[in-house]
Amino acid sequence: MLEDAQVERYSRQIILPQVGGKGQEKLLRSQVYVDGDGLLAAAALFYLVAAGVGTIGVARAKAALIFSVLAQRPLGSDEQPVAHTLRRLNPDCTIVTHLDEDEQPPHHYDLILATTDALHDGWYAQHKPFVWGAASGEGARLFVSRGDRADRPCLRCLFSARVNLPSKRRAKAGDSLDSPALSPPYALFLGTQLVTEALKIILQPESDSPPKLLAYTFPSFHCTEQTVEKNPHCSVCSTQRVNVSTA
Ligand SMILES: [Zn+2]
Repeated sequence: MLEDAQVERYSRQIILPQVGGKGQEKLLRSQVYVDGDGLLAAAALFYLVAAGVGTIGVARAKAALIFSVLAQRPLGSDEQPVAHTLRRLNPDCTIVTHLDEDEQPPHHYDLILATTDALHDGWYAQHKPFVWGAASGEGARLFVSRGDRADRPCLRCLFSARVNLPSKRRAKAGDSLDSPALSPPYALFLGTQLVTEALKIILQPESDSPPKLLAYTFPSFHCTEQTVEKNPHCSVCSTQRVNVSTA
C-alpha cells in the first residue's frame, strides 16, 4: 500500500492507466541491474531512480564511473554527493553496488538494462529480459532480448541479422557505443527510451509486442522499426527450450 508521500511523489505516473497504484507498487518491488559506465548508463540510472524502481544494482567499478559522469567530476572524486542527490531525488530507491563487474548479477534482479552486450548470453540462459541500447552522435539503437520468451530473437540474433542501422557500421558482438563523447541530449533521450522499455516489462511482462529493433537517427530523432527474426542457428537462443503457453 502506497503511503501518502509516495502517492504525491508518483502522482504523474499513477494517473497513467498503464501504471496506477498497483503498478507503482510493482515498480517499488522491482529490481533492475544497470550495466554500463558512460553517459547513457548515467541517464538510465537517473530515470530508474525517478520512476521509483525499488532496487538498482550496478558493479562497484562502474558505479564510480557513472557517479563521476552524473557529478560532472573526475573519476575518484567523492561519490557521496551523487549518492546523496539520488537518495534525495527518491528515498524509496536503493542502489546496490556489487564487487565483480565481470560476473552475472544475482538472479533476484528482474532484468538487466545495458549499454553493452557483455552480460547478455549468461543472463539469457537464466530466462530473464535484457534491455539493450547503444548510441553515438549519428543515432541510437534499442532492442529488448526476452530471455523469458524463448520463442523471441535474442541480441545475438540481432547482431547476425541483415538489418539497416542508422550508423554507417553494423552492430556487432562487443559493441558499446556508450562513449563519453555522446552528446547529453542524445544520451538523455535514449536513457528515457531504455527505462520506458524496462518499465513496460516490469508492469506488463506478458504483453506481446513484436520483436523489433528501434533505430533513431540524430539530430532529427526520426525512428524506424525493423523486425528481427529469430536465427535458427543462433549460438545463444536456438538451444533454449521454447516455452509454449497453453493459456
Ligand atoms: Zn538468438
